[in-house]
Amino acid sequence: MNGLVLSVENLTVSFDGFKAIDELNFYVDANELHVVIGPNGAGKTTLLDMICGKTKPTSGTICFNGLHLEQMLEYQITRAGVGRKFQNPMVYEELTVEENLEISYPRKRDVLGSLFFRRDAALREAIDEIAGKIFLSDQLGRRAGLLSHGQKQWLEIGMLLMQDPALLMLDEPVAGMSAKERELTAELLREIARGRSVIVIEHDMEFVRSIAHKVTVLHQGRKLVEGPMSAVQQDPRVVEVYLGH
Ligand code: ADP
Ligand code: MG
Repeated sequence: MNGLVLSVENLTVSFDGFKAIDELNFYVDANELHVVIGPNGAGKTTLLDMICGKTKPTSGTICFNGLHLEQMLEYQITRAGVGRKFQNPMVYEELTVEENLEISYPRKRDVLGSLFFRRDAALREAIDEIAGKIFLSDQLGRRAGLLSHGQKQWLEIGMLLMQDPALLMLDEPVAGMSAKERELTAELLREIARGRSVIVIEHDMEFVRSIAHKVTVLHQGRKLVEGPMSAVQQDPRVVEVYLGH
């Protein structure tokens, strides 16, 4: 029932001889919520950078729904259905929540589509649906700059959802969030993963436990352990390099 959406094989990137990712194999299924953990400098962000095309691998392949992402440019990868959220929220502070969502909606390529773009019923529907998912239905008219840090994180997730990516990648989405916001974010991510694959990088173990279908532990650019959180957190190698500190 779950086909493979992403397969990363023998992936290596070397920065001046230092291998930030070293012969990594990494797979994500459809509708899988896959969390990547590991100590600082393990290569987690670099892995996402390569999947989204920001960094080109030194060697290896990144196959996404039959496409070779390592041969594509960043904007082509986005268009192919890969959404990436960076660590700090990137929203347009001067625009309202609604406008931030609206500008993220993929534009139709034909002239008629762009003329009627603003009043497009499909757009209205997408904004209302996604605003509800990200807990911002009652904030649509508010300037994004006035939102809390957690709400900005949700808005950026919403902006990515407007593009309906088949694979969504989030780098430390709950950093700086309150306990309540973390709980809501866990709920949001579980909901999001019902229709797509999600890769999350996170440090908060309680949060990871509450969302992960599968956990990969990276250490020095290599895969240390992989499996369900219940197994990973008891693995002595993980305790030694990560959880123990
Ligand atoms: P993590 O996200 O797991 O904390 P990163 O992927 O950010 O780790 O970094 C992995 C290692 O690669 C670190 O030692 C970092 O300094 C190095 N690194 C990342 N990007 C670059 C780059 N563009 N140039 C040189 N070194 C880099
Ligand atoms: Mg990082």
